[in-house]
Amino acid sequence: MKVSTNNHQADHWKMRGGPAGLHLFNRTTGLNVLLDEVAVPLSLHARAPRQVSIALTNRCDLACAHCYAPKSRAELRFDDITRWLAELDSNGTFGVGFGGGEPTLYPEFVKLCQDIAHETQLSVSFTTHGHHIDDVLADSLHGSVNFVRVSMDGVGATYESIRHRPFYELLARFQHVRSISSFGINVVINELTLPNLDDVAIVASDVGACELLLLPQVPIRGVPAISQDTLQGLRRWVDSYRGSLKLCINEMSAEGFPTCDPLGQECGLLAYAHIDAMGILKPTSYSDTGVELGDRGVLQTLEQLTHDLTENDT
Ligand code: SF4
Repeated sequence: MKVSTNNHQADHWKMRGGPAGLHLFNRTTGLNVLLDEVAVPLSLHARAPRQVSIALTNRCDLACAHCYAPKSRAELRFDDITRWLAELDSNGTFGVGFGGGEPTLYPEFVKLCQDIAHETQLSVSFTTHGHHIDDVLADSLHGSVNFVRVSMDGVGATYESIRHRPFYELLARFQHVRSISSFGINVVINELTLPNLDDVAIVASDVGACELLLLPQVPIRGVPAISQDTLQGLRRWVDSYRGSLKLCINEMSAEGFPTCDPLGQECGLLAYAHIDAMGILKPTSYSDTGVELGDRGVLQTLEQLTHDLTENDT
């Protein structure tokens, strides 16, 4: 096994020290290895979050009721994004997930993915509604993107009532998504979508997805949070699922679900942070607490955010 911290040896393993041990990650295969018998001294623990997500733009051409992206046209500067990611890469971050809004509407989206894939060791993923992925975009992204997440909260009429786009058009996009990288399906779970989940899982398997990310609905702009009954129904669905898709759930909704997290000691801002389209660093995309990055480095801003969150808790 070759382990490297050299940015240009892109297909080698990257390593990260932390409270759980020495963590190795290969972005090409997606394989994680945790050497938990290795006691890494505190001074060698990675200081950056393991994963970051970045909302490149708030723009989107769809209008889903459950959308939490602010309805502004805020967009990040290319040079800021590459500067932040270079710093995060050299301080132990393993991956970046681009989102929005709709990230494929970001003007330099392809160049950004290519530059990050070439100049850093970060794994690159993005979350998309999928309707702009054609053969040209897919060809341009192939080799620079390690994983794609496509939003599909239901099938047929259920999908169309949420996304207001024909379902058959989404299905046609999967042939292009498949040619970029392995991919998963994101499903916002609420009273409308839970009854559709069996069909979503069948379609997801049929089109070649490997993962189902379950996202219980959070309250936003008059749309209520998922009800306790629906959440209970989701737990029953997860318990009874026997298909081949890997099931995942976001950390804030994980309570009561059978999850496995060998890195539980590496939590909070050491596990994950989000940068929104206005350049605010936050603990999650839903959080009201954040610190503007401005011209500062990410690690310096993380320290400020950690301090602010601690103050809010006391
Ligand atoms: S596709 Fe995504 S970003 Fe666009 S409106 Fe829907 S939820 Fe929001």
